[in-house]
Amino acid sequence: MPSLMECSINNVIKIFHQYSRHEDHPDRLSQSEFKELVQKELPTFLKKENRDEEAIKEILEDLDTSGDKQLSFEEFAMLVAKLTQAAHEEMHKGGHIGDHHQHREGFGKSQGSCQSQGGHSH
Ligand SMILES: [Zn+2]
Ligand SMILES: [Zn+2]
Repeated sequence: MPSLMECSINNVIKIFHQYSRHEDHPDRLSQSEFKELVQKELPTFLKKENRDEEAIKEILEDLDTSGDKQLSFEEFAMLVAKLTQAAHEEMHKGGHIGDHHQHREGFGKSQGSCQSQGGHSH
């Protein structure tokens, strides 16, 4: 059994594949696949951006370092890293109370579930 940490990493990969394999290259997110992923999988973390199509397009252009208008997993992983950092910062808003290292709720209540969502094949 993978640990919660390993499970979380696996889930990021699974979710990427869930959307990347719809059209064209099965291991790249097209603009419409990326939009769908952001809307369905990041509704609370990217709440503001989700109301604005142009903002989603800008995120993709930022992440697309190779300039092919698609996101490889490597490019997508940069977004995950940025969001992880932003979520951690959000948890610490208001600073630390006394000597305690306190974490607030962050961007959204975590459901605490890490379940397998079925297989993935190429
Ligand atoms: Zn793959
Ligand atoms: Zn912390």
